[in-house]
Amino acid sequence: MALKVEVDQNKCATVGICVKELPEIFGFQQGSKKAQSKVDIVPAHLETKCLAVAKKCPNGAIQVREIQ
Ligand code: SF4
Repeated sequence: MALKVEVDQNKCATVGICVKELPEIFGFQQGSKKAQSKVDIVPAHLETKCLAVAKKCPNGAIQVREIQ
């Protein structure tokens, strides 16, 4: 099992919680200032933290789902 992470560009409101708390995975895009995930698959050692940060996003923009 692995976790795939994406930022919904229609929901992200550039609050920046994800970028501040987990810069290994999230970063702002140049220009739009919306966040994007730098990785497709969450590194195993960051899975727990990534799930916690996803819950903190006030816009529910961070989508984390299990893939095979
Ligand atoms: S916490 Fe949510 S709204 Fe804020 S930058 Fe990250 S994805 Fe966007």
